[in-house]
Amino acid sequence: MNHSHSKALFARAQERIPGGVNSPVRAFRGVGGDPVFFREATGAWMTDVDGNRYVDLVGSWGPLILGHAYPPIVEALIEAARRGTTYGAPAPGEVELAELLCATVPSVEKVRLVSSGTEATVAAIRLARGFTGRDFILKFEGCFHGAGDPFLVKAGSGVETLGLPDSPGVPAALAKLTLTAPYNDLEAVERLFAEKGKEIACAIIEPVVGNMGVLVPKPGYLQGLQELCRKHGVLFVLDEVMTGFRLARGGAQELFGLKPDLSTFAKVVGGGMPLGAYGGRRDIMSKIAPEGPVYQSGTLSGNPVAVAAGLACLKALAAPGTYARLEQLGAMLEQGLKAEAQAAGVPVTLNRVGSMLTLFFCDTPVYDYASAKKADTARFGRFFHAMLNEGVYLPPSQFEAAFVSLAIGEAEVAHILAAARKAFRSLA
Ligand code: PMP
Repeated sequence: MNHSHSKALFARAQERIPGGVNSPVRAFRGVGGDPVFFREATGAWMTDVDGNRYVDLVGSWGPLILGHAYPPIVEALIEAARRGTTYGAPAPGEVELAELLCATVPSVEKVRLVSSGTEATVAAIRLARGFTGRDFILKFEGCFHGAGDPFLVKAGSGVETLGLPDSPGVPAALAKLTLTAPYNDLEAVERLFAEKGKEIACAIIEPVVGNMGVLVPKPGYLQGLQELCRKHGVLFVLDEVMTGFRLARGGAQELFGLKPDLSTFAKVVGGGMPLGAYGGRRDIMSKIAPEGPVYQSGTLSGNPVAVAAGLACLKALAAPGTYARLEQLGAMLEQGLKAEAQAAGVPVTLNRVGSMLTLFFCDTPVYDYASAKKADTARFGRFFHAMLNEGVYLPPSQFEAAFVSLAIGEAEVAHILAAARKAFRSLA
């Protein structure tokens, strides 16, 4: 596969953009080699600047559950743009999207729109602190909640790939207010809460983790965490930036029967445009300015073009059979990938919930940060490049989730599995 135009662009980009990219994991540091630059994408397929085509299993890291350039979304946002790209004043679409969000996710009684997942999580933490009057927060090792200062402590995702457990620039005084516990370990939380529970504003968690690769919660783990939080007056914050509207219409909270105090959303809710949201209990959300004293704002918050895309996306997902189809596609890939790995004699652990999956290159179960770290990242890198060469675009890191979209059909599944057969053989 020829990548000469990508290489030339990357050389130019590195002169003017740190690392040549506008978000670290795009730089392929986790897999080696140079990133591919894309010129267009429709449905399940992306075309790079050299004309190579790939089935996309990244979906822009989650938003593109309907595939690229999904016509009803494109039409909705063009139509909205014609009426003006931003007003900096309220508009009807925001009310409609807020109502739809609350109707779809029953724990959300009031919601505030923002422009990214990071904004949503940062605002949710401030609100939890403001509401409880407590300063500490609890997060889970390897979970990623965006690039906000309070979260760059034992964070997964790009931080993990780069091997930066903390970031310079995050004051130690702030970082020490972020407590961490291993994912899938309730006893650790119990011990921590017994000691410090009264000082902890909230626990924030990825219900199904995507940012160490996919980790599945053990049966009862999330419910147990919710109970422990209630017992200690700690707000239970579910970060549904990846899982919201993806694992079920009502997100992971619907799937696992949870009722978080606050939830954060982005990715799917914006239909591929910059849009995030945080919401939850009415009494808590009423503390947000101007109704209450906890400040949060944004010039482009509730942007009419982003809102139009989000509404079109959520309406399309309401079609019957959506989540059954995503589950079916995920299951086909899971079974096929496992079979190809086994046939080639390559040990793998495949974690999947619905349309989120990760193939770990190790033969031991992966359920927390420590077990994820056992994966052979060099081997993943070779697999990644073999797949790329066969026209499949996987997340360029062992510690990221692959996302299946509804644009993937039987032909794309066959294409992915044929590529995997060659890729696994090349490793054996
Ligand atoms: N929370 C989770 C669970 C995420 O996966 C991400 C991004 N991958 C974020 C928050 C941050 O979202 P954004 O990149 O839109 O700021």
